[in-house]
Amino acid sequence: MNTQTEAMYEALGISKEVYQFGQETEEKLKERFAKIDETAEYNQLKVIRAMQQNRVAQEHFNMSSGYGYDDAGRDTLEEVYATAFHTEAALVRPQITCGTHALAVALFGNLRPGDEMISISGKPYDTLEEVIGIRPSNGSLAEYGVTYRQVDLLADGSFDFEKIKETISEKTKLIEIQRSKGYQTRPTLSVSQIGEAIAFVKSINPEIICMVDNCYGEFVERIEPSDVGADMTVGSLIKNPGGGLAPIGGYIVGKKACIENAARRLTCPGLGKEVGANLGVMRSFYQGFFLAPTVTSGALKGAIFAANIYEKLGFAVVPNGSEERHDIIQAVTFGFPEGVIAFCEGIQAAAPVDSYVTPEPWAMPGYDSDVIMAAGAFVQGSSIELSADGPIKPPYAVYFQGGLTWNHAKLGILMSLQKLVEKHLVTLPER
Ligand SMILES: *Cc1c(COP(=O)(O)O)cnc(C)c1O
Repeated sequence: MNTQTEAMYEALGISKEVYQFGQETEEKLKERFAKIDETAEYNQLKVIRAMQQNRVAQEHFNMSSGYGYDDAGRDTLEEVYATAFHTEAALVRPQITCGTHALAVALFGNLRPGDEMISISGKPYDTLEEVIGIRPSNGSLAEYGVTYRQVDLLADGSFDFEKIKETISEKTKLIEIQRSKGYQTRPTLSVSQIGEAIAFVKSINPEIICMVDNCYGEFVERIEPSDVGADMTVGSLIKNPGGGLAPIGGYIVGKKACIENAARRLTCPGLGKEVGANLGVMRSFYQGFFLAPTVTSGALKGAIFAANIYEKLGFAVVPNGSEERHDIIQAVTFGFPEGVIAFCEGIQAAAPVDSYVTPEPWAMPGYDSDVIMAAGAFVQGSSIELSADGPIKPPYAVYFQGGLTWNHAKLGILMSLQKLVEKHLVTLPER
């Protein structure tokens, strides 16, 4: 059987040597992968139970239009999210255009002029800089008189509790914690670390709203930030919880009052959650959420596989090949631009869509260097699908994530290695 599979890899352009190197690497990851499967099993049951408890039915997949009054599909889906995340309420909508928008809705809905927000996990994700007004921007929170302060993580990536205590004042209305490292080199925070920080903040002032940017973290662990005291947990549906099927959307789960405030920002005061037609995306939202635990587990295996492949070849990888995971992002530092380019070419060549396209570094708005991006996705920009990107500047690192199935993630990573080997950028160890 294996020779048949090997022949198929060969037909796709993977050499015997690269395939063998991959097999040896995978062999050593069996125990790790078994643990990931156990987490996926638990989370799968959690999602099914939430669907059963809320009596999800065929009729909930129906389309609504216009105002979307009494949209049972939309309302029940929000109950399913609230049940799975163990929160009082949820806002899960196709009108939330992406993760940044979900975070902006949560912030604008809950902050008022004169309030202060503090990020206690250092610099927030790039796209939030203009939302908050860290980089001046029309319509930012800063323009509405909401001030911002930041407490950086300590050198080891943990929270700076002393500094947090010093920075919190009577003006502090909300603290933000970003679970994932995003495109930084700090470690990703575990849910239990996040829980400790929230407990600490609440011990100073229980009224402070604790909001967690949960992007890329959903279903990686058995618990979510909402299980450890977060008042709002926020993310994108074209990442983990959309399971690859949601064509758009974002979610906010948490305290009823916070969700209501967010809904009044998403629509408007007086209307809140009552309006918002689903336009026919409900089945993909439900089915995507149902698939999300296993999809996330596949992406996680891919990240660990890549870390081990490239670590063995002598490259710096974050997280490293053996450490525990709290999100699905993997960074590989090549140290030379050709490595980043070859890696991305491989990811693209392994895609089910647009595989014949060759990605090239390009100047992108908001970046201070050329950037190369590889994505052959069913949903544009979806980063739960196998995708990679890297700025063409030192240290010449590539960030990649996703893979709707482990098998595809594996092919993508082997293909990236194949490109590096073909261009004589790496040599496989003698066997
Ligand atoms: C992706 C991401 C966002 C923004 O999500 P978009 O859907 O790209 O707008 C915010 N925070 C983190 C940590 C992310 O990974």
